Amino acid sequence: MKSFKINILSRYYPLKHKTAALAFGCYIAAFAIFLSGCSTLGIYNPATEKREFIFVSTPEEASMGRTIHQNILEKYKLSQDKEKQERLDKIGSRIVQISDRQDLAYKFYLLEDKELNAFTVPGGSVYFNTGLFDKLENEDQIAGVLAHEIGHSAARHTIKKFQAALGYNLVASLVLTHLGLEENSARLASMGADVIMGMVFNAYSRQDEYEADRLAVKYLYFSGYRPEAMAESFEILKKESKEQKGFLYFRTHPYIEDRIVAINQEVVKVRTKYDGPEAQNK
Ligand SMILES: [Zn+2]
Repeated sequence: MKSFKINILSRYYPLKHKTAALAFGCYIAAFAIFLSGCSTLGIYNPATEKREFIFVSTPEEASMGRTIHQNILEKYKLSQDKEKQERLDKIGSRIVQISDRQDLAYKFYLLEDKELNAFTVPGGSVYFNTGLFDKLENEDQIAGVLAHEIGHSAARHTIKKFQAALGYNLVASLVLTHLGLEENSARLASMGADVIMGMVFNAYSRQDEYEADRLAVKYLYFSGYRPEAMAESFEILKKESKEQKGFLYFRTHPYIEDRIVAINQEVVKVRTKYDGPEAQNK
């Protein structure tokens, strides 16, 4: 398909000929579609239990993920420990089976790095540092960290942050992309990867962290892991943070004390809902 570029600046200049007028018309129409989409056309996301307007498609998200993965491989070394990698894959695949989001090809990577950290990128890849992997005491606790990261993907936290950062002009050009101007898509995916790369290593909002924790408790329960292990893994991280300086997990995952309280409350809620009230008295 032939590329059809819209000059956003045409809005500020006299429209001298038909092409510019058409471009301007398309721009306004597209933005109107976007705005109406926000309020009425949003798709229900079972992870957040809300209707959301996500204009980055799953293939676009996956494409960004692949670009980011290349950047990560330049920065980190993949672990060569096959046994640990297999454990990570086994636990991860058990959780993704019951995740609210089934349109992603999830992948799990063990990174050779001492810093206690784990993170996810758009497209469903989860990265787990060996430093953190080795500190956790059992599979349930590893599952807790993975379930939290999978929760971020299901709730589309990074993509929503990315959409918010794009702003007015790019929102419009993206909507035009969905109307059939496919060339813009690749350009956007590469530009998006740069922006998102910065977001991956910055803290999520407090609200996003609570949401990912809530989803993690649910995912642990339904994949047959102990949901209590989520708070246990945080207790281990808390203890480690007192002994380590520049503790990365708390830079990307702050508010740990408050979150442990909220997680414990969520565990009671989930167990009461699915096991019955008497389960709490056992
Ligand atoms: Zn998080």
